[in-house]
Amino acid sequence: MIPVTTFAGKRIAVFGLGRSGLVAAQALAEGGAQVVVYDDDEKSVARAKAAGLTAQDLRASDWSSLAALVLAPGVPLTHPRPHWSVLLARQTGVEIIGDIELFCRERAAVMARCPLVAVTGTNGKSTTTALIAHLLKSAGRDAQLGGNIGVPVLALAPFAPGRIYVLEVSSYQIDLAPSLRPSVGVLLNVTEDHLDRHGTIENYAAIKERLAARIESGGTAVVGIDDEWTRAAARRIADAGRRVECVSVRSPLGEGLYAENSRIMRAGKGRSELLADLAGIASLRGLHNAQNAGCAIAAALALGLDIAEVRKGLATFPGLAHRMQPIARWGRVLFVNDSKATNADSAARALSSFQDIFWIAGGRPKTGGITSLAGYFPRIRKAYLIGEAAEEFARTLDGKVACEISVTLERAVAAAARDAEASTAAEPVVLLSPACASFDQYPNFEVRGQAFVDAVMAMPGIDHLDVSR
Ligand code: ADP
Repeated sequence: MIPVTTFAGKRIAVFGLGRSGLVAAQALAEGGAQVVVYDDDEKSVARAKAAGLTAQDLRASDWSSLAALVLAPGVPLTHPRPHWSVLLARQTGVEIIGDIELFCRERAAVMARCPLVAVTGTNGKSTTTALIAHLLKSAGRDAQLGGNIGVPVLALAPFAPGRIYVLEVSSYQIDLAPSLRPSVGVLLNVTEDHLDRHGTIENYAAIKERLAARIESGGTAVVGIDDEWTRAAARRIADAGRRVECVSVRSPLGEGLYAENSRIMRAGKGRSELLADLAGIASLRGLHNAQNAGCAIAAALALGLDIAEVRKGLATFPGLAHRMQPIARWGRVLFVNDSKATNADSAARALSSFQDIFWIAGGRPKTGGITSLAGYFPRIRKAYLIGEAAEEFARTLDGKVACEISVTLERAVAAAARDAEASTAAEPVVLLSPACASFDQYPNFEVRGQAFVDAVMAMPGIDHLDVSR
C-alpha cells in the first residue's frame, strides 16, 4: 500500500466503498489523515466499519472542516446527474478528487522521479496497460500494474527508485485527477461509448485528451490517430510543443509508428524500419491488437527499452484472460475464450481475427443483436447458440450460416469441438465470443469465460496453452 501523507492531520471524506474506495481510505488513514467514509449501500458501510474505518452519514457531516471529498470513480460526478455527495461538496466549496489524484500528489511530494505511464482510450486499455507492464518486466524493470485494471492504484507497492507505475485510467478517473501528469500518456482511441456518464462525445473526447495533453515536462504522448477525435488531439498536443508519438493501423505515416499487416513499422527522417512482427503471437491477433501493440511499443521505447527487449517481451505476452485468449489446442482445433465480448462490436474484433470459425454466441442480447455482424458470416462454419438470445440469433443467421440451438455453454463446446475436428479447415477455431451480456446464465463474463475454459479442459486429449497472466 502507498500511504497518502499529503492529507496528514486533515479531515477528509471518502464516498463509494468498493475496493478502490476502501483502499483509498486506508491509505489516507495510514498517512495520518482523519478519514470519514460513507456509501449509499449499508453493506458497504458495514464492511468499512469492520475494517476499522470511521463511517458517518455525510449528509449530517460538518463539511466546512473537510479538506476534500474522495469519490469512487463509479459515483456520478456530472451525468446523468451529480450524486448528492457531489452537490454537498460543491455547495460547501470542498474539492472533489479520486484515488489517482491522491496517488499523483503523493508521487509529486515523495518521489516525482518514479516514471508514470497512464493509458486511456475507449477500447483496448487493459490489453495495452498489461502489455506495457509485461514489456517492462520482461526487460527486468520494476513495473507496477494497476489503476482501473486489477489492483487499485493505492494498493500498489510504495514509491522506490527505479519503480515504474503503469496505470489504466478511465475517463471517470481522469475527471477526478486534475494533477495527473504522466511521464508517458497513452491515448488509444475514442469512439462513442459511456456517453451516459459524460453527456456529449465532445466532452468525453476532451476528458480523454487531457491525459495525453498534460504529460510532464520531457514526457511523451502516445496517440493512436485512427479516429477523428484522437487525430485532432494529437495535432493540438504537438502544436503545444509536446513530444507526440503517433500510431496508426489504418495507413502508413511519414513520422510515427504504423502497421503493415502484422508488421509494426517506425517512420521518420524519410525512411521506415521494421520494429516488430506480431505474426505468430497468438495473444496479439487482429488489427485492434496491432493498435494496442503499436502504442505499447511506443511507450516502452519512450521509457528507454531497446527494440530487442521489446521484441522479446512481445513474444511472451500471455494476453488477458477472457479477451480473445487462446486457451487450448485439440489436434488442429484452436479454442479461444473471448467472453469479454459482451456486445456485437467487440465480437466483430474476434470474428475478423480468425477464419473457419465454430462460433459460440448468445446470452442476454443487446439492442440490434448480431445484425451488424453480417459481413463476418462467411467466416463462420457453424454457430452454436446459447442463452436468451438463441432464438433471435438463429433468425438472423437463418439461410446464411448453419446453426444449432445448444442452450448451454457445455453442450455448445461439445458440439463445436466435434464439428471443428471433423472439418477440413487447416486451423478451425472454436470461439466463444458471445456478443451478449452473461447475466441470464452467469454472474459476470469472467465466470462465463471460466465455464468455457473448464468445459474445454475437461475434454480428453486436450493440450493446454499457457493461460497464466
Ligand atoms: P478496455 O480495457 O478498454 O475495456 P480491453 O483491452 O479489455 O479494453 O479489451 C476489451 C475488448 O475490446 C477486446 O476483447 C476487443 O474486443 C476490444 N478491443 C481491444 N482493443 C481494441 C482496440 N484497440 N480497438 C478496438 N477494440 C478493441
